[in-house]
Formats: sequence, C-alpha cells, structure tokens
Amino acid sequence: MKISVNSKCVCGSDKKYKKCCKEFHDGKLPKNALDLMRSRFSAYAVGNADYIIQTTHKDNIEFTHNRQTWLNDINNFCEYTDFNKLTIIEHTEIQNESFVTFKAKLTQNGLDASFTEKSRFLKVEGKWYYIDGVFL
Ligand SMILES: [Zn+2]
Repeated sequence: MKISVNSKCVCGSDKKYKKCCKEFHDGKLPKNALDLMRSRFSAYAVGNADYIIQTTHKDNIEFTHNRQTWLNDINNFCEYTDFNKLTIIEHTEIQNESFVTFKAKLTQNGLDASFTEKSRFLKVEGKWYYIDGVFL
C-alpha cells in the first residue's frame, strides 16, 4: 500500500502523513516510545524498511548483521500486507523502558491478520528503540 504525503497518517493521529510520521521517517527523533510505535506502524504502511531497522534495538531477535536479507524480509512483509489501522490501548514509561499495548488491524491477501501486542521499548543515549513484544 502506498501512501501520499497528503493523505491521513495511518498511525491514527488524524494528521496528514507529511505533518505526522513522515517527520520521524525524515530524521526527527520521537520524544517517546508511543510516537516511535506510531511511526514504525506507518513505516510498515509506506514500506520504509530502513526506518524499521534503524529503530530496532540490537538485542531484538530479528536484529541481523545481514542487513540485505532483513530488508528483503521486511519489504516482502510490507508487500503482501495492508496496514489498515492502529489503535493504542496503553502506554507506560518508567525511565528508559516503555511499554505500548496496541491493536494493529492488518489484512493479508484480503484476509484479516490483525493482532494485539504489548511492545517493549528501550531508550539508549536519548533515542528510543523497539526491542520485543508479546502477543495478547
Ligand atoms: Zn503518524
């Protein structure tokens, strides 16, 4: 799914993509894990695999030094998935660790592939990273 800069951001903010997550995709640092979570969801929606990799903590299980393989995997996933809607359920933050519980409404080949996850984020040198998550 390709998204125009003037269409509404898929992260659920009600703002245009160019006034919302695109700013993060262009280099602005999310001030908290919630903004990072939103911007990662919209990065999947626009197929920005680089952003996903850049915002993944190196201790994440999918973190691989074979960047090309990882890029291809993300691109494939983005290719056959529609990222319809993100709903934030809860956001907690204690110092350098944060949890975001969300519902992602996805479809793959026309079939519902939605899930609910509690994601964990860590702040390293002032920058938030996704580290892992559990399905609820
Ligand atoms: Zn957004």
